[in-house]
Amino acid sequence: PGNGGFKIIGGHTDSPNLKVKPRSKRGVNSGCTQLAVECYGGGLWHTWFDRDLGVSGRVLVRNSSGGIYQKLVKIDRAVLRVPNLAIHLQTASEREAFKINKEDHLSPILATEAAKVLTGETENTDTKEKKSEKDGWTEHQEPLLLQVIASELGIDVEDIADFELNLFDTQKAALGGVYSEFVHSARLDNLASCFLAVKGLVEYATEEGLSEDEDISLIAMFDHEEVGSSSATGAGSPIMGDAVKAISAALNSGESNPDLYGATIRRSFVLSVDQAHAIHPNYSGKHEKGHAPKINDGMVIKRNQNQRYATNAITGFLVREIARKSGLPPIQEFVVRNDCGCGSTIGPIISSNTGIRAIDMGCPQLSMHSIRETMGVCDLGNGLALFKSFFKYFREVDESLEQ
Ligand SMILES: [Zn+2]
Repeated sequence: PGNGGFKIIGGHTDSPNLKVKPRSKRGVNSGCTQLAVECYGGGLWHTWFDRDLGVSGRVLVRNSSGGIYQKLVKIDRAVLRVPNLAIHLQTASEREAFKINKEDHLSPILATEAAKVLTGETENTDTKEKKSEKDGWTEHQEPLLLQVIASELGIDVEDIADFELNLFDTQKAALGGVYSEFVHSARLDNLASCFLAVKGLVEYATEEGLSEDEDISLIAMFDHEEVGSSSATGAGSPIMGDAVKAISAALNSGESNPDLYGATIRRSFVLSVDQAHAIHPNYSGKHEKGHAPKINDGMVIKRNQNQRYATNAITGFLVREIARKSGLPPIQEFVVRNDCGCGSTIGPIISSNTGIRAIDMGCPQLSMHSIRETMGVCDLGNGLALFKSFFKYFREVDESLEQ
């Protein structure tokens, strides 16, 4: 765009979870058929115990002509469970330590041998690969898992060529608190931000005068933030810079122009949105008093002088000004305590890859990386309003800054 830039809201879609290992078969142990799983990201793994777990992801399926296609699958019932050890079987020091071994203690149970006998499925359930397509993959997979997937997808077990599967809590999201002021749900970090970004863009595009907007309004959702963002689908990939280049060139009669690209980058901005840590009433000492965001009390700007977050005085002020112009509650500020490590986000990664200015912000929440997290209902409304206002007022506020 000649006089415009890119107004970008970026976030991550992934969250810590148990993923099925490449060789899913863990065999029968103590009468239980178990599944081999791998920890993805920094989960609060003790929260995965005693939950009704389903499994979902993508499956590579062979078609009749020998080709491969992808199918999404979601087994939305409690086919898996990681049981706690009874307190009576723990020593006093084990109880106190509350510690688990991630390899030994997180293997979920898929079925019991006893039930297999009761249902008459006593024959060898090992699945056979089609001889012509044998590559040794199937023999390492748990047959019961393949059967469940095949029946869900309405395909034959031997047509499953590979998969990428995640475990999840089948309990649905719920409102909580006396005033229904909380949302309890899995993956609020960071699907709450992604939901608000999508809704914000759609509402801005349908309600506002897009035809007079010289800027590009864009949202970008990345995978692999929980493990550092270095992947083809992560924020560390070249896709953000490539997209800005390609879209600018397309709007400039198909020609790329380094001067135009540089000017576009300078006029662009990334709102890096990720959930923030609200102060916890039982652990209030974990926050620094002056920077302790509260649930349902406004959006949170995150800052870190060591550049774990991308916010600086200009980008922070800009967003505060947009919030003020839109009549939103005052923005809250978060800085981690000096004696505590700091998380990071995609903000500094995109900013350092592309040179685009950025801010890190998000809605406050509790229990980050638990299997079931908590945030405030009002913060969802505040987030949506702010994201829409960002698309609406960014250029005006940015230009007022330059004068
Ligand atoms: Zn996050």
